[in-house]
Amino acid sequence: MRFGTDILRQADILAAFTEDPPGVTRSYLTPQHRRAGDCIAALMREAGMDASYDALGNVVGRYAADRSGAPVVMTGSHMDSVRNAGRYDGVFGILTAIACVRDLHRRGRRLPFDFEVVAFGDEEGVRFGVTLIGSKAMGGSFDPAWLDAKDAGGTTLREALIAFGGDPDGWRALDRRGKGVVAYVESHIEQGPVLLDEGLPVGVVTAIASGARMRVEVTGLAGHAGTVPMGARQDALAAAAEMVLAVERIASAPGAGGSALVGTVGTIEARPGAINVIPQDVSFTVDVRSGDDVARRRATAVMRDAFGAIAPRRGVKVASDVFYELPAAPCDASLQDALAASVARQGLPVRRLPSGAGHDAMVFPPVCPIAMLFVRCGAGGISHHPDETMTAADAEVATAVFLDFLETWTPPNADDA
Ligand SMILES: [Zn+2]
Repeated sequence: MRFGTDILRQADILAAFTEDPPGVTRSYLTPQHRRAGDCIAALMREAGMDASYDALGNVVGRYAADRSGAPVVMTGSHMDSVRNAGRYDGVFGILTAIACVRDLHRRGRRLPFDFEVVAFGDEEGVRFGVTLIGSKAMGGSFDPAWLDAKDAGGTTLREALIAFGGDPDGWRALDRRGKGVVAYVESHIEQGPVLLDEGLPVGVVTAIASGARMRVEVTGLAGHAGTVPMGARQDALAAAAEMVLAVERIASAPGAGGSALVGTVGTIEARPGAINVIPQDVSFTVDVRSGDDVARRRATAVMRDAFGAIAPRRGVKVASDVFYELPAAPCDASLQDALAASVARQGLPVRRLPSGAGHDAMVFPPVCPIAMLFVRCGAGGISHHPDETMTAADAEVATAVFLDFLETWTPPNADDA
């Protein structure tokens, strides 16, 4: 096998850089981030690239074009993880690209574009509650207010960047808009069961779903669990429970035009949180995603209306706040076709599918056209979980597809460069 075995072995090595062994937890700007980044930079250099950290702790590898002044093609994925993650989410997209460069370099083959491989320091947003920090800086959508965001220990992003050796004010220079980048193409495990169920190793992504995140606060009245009659209660948790079911019902309703929509209440907290006290304050979060921005906005509004109808009936107050919104990112049609042709040249059927999860690629449309290649994950398609798996054979096929794409795709202005 040319690539697959090595990629899985390298993923195992990176999995050891974790905050809670044997699980994989690697947050932004931690010593584990540093060790993973150093390891990735070493792999990049050994493959024939220049590699260094940028101001935000991303590792950027560059394989120079066959000429000077050539356009730039970017790829990459994230090296951070959720808590208790699998070992391929993010990491695979970095390692497969490095494997392509290693092969090109070994053959002495240069491309008609500078090829940049980025290992993003933060995509999942676990530490500071802001996702895609590294890629947003490159996509031109970094918000300097995030520098004051704090982690659970009270450390700000600004302080953590300085401690890491980064530069909190360096984000401006990372903006790649207008800098000759002609495509961003990311490989990633599917994180779902579609390819697995259809017996296919890879698929071409059509669009990355949009997402909205909402925080909901329900305020009732605490009381003695033994003395307040059932009819006289203002139980914030019972009201919140009804709201959670409303989210499920609204997200399950068929959307206009058959657009798929998903809604999830992932966290809920009740206070004071005692077995013998009626809950007074409840906070929960709602995550709503769709490939269709209009459908997602409509569903979010319907959910907020439902909360507003449930609250007075139960004698509680509710406030909801959409604190994060990211529009859907369609993948470029011609890049999709080029990836599809590379899939077909491996003798495989071409399956196109949307991405329900967010990825670094989704913030690059202001820079350049984007595309994504999905790779099958095993174990029922599970991800963000230690049971996440992929096979060496699939890593092999996906890398062969990506390498074929790199060697056959012609950037739009390569001939004028
Ligand atoms: Zn990922």
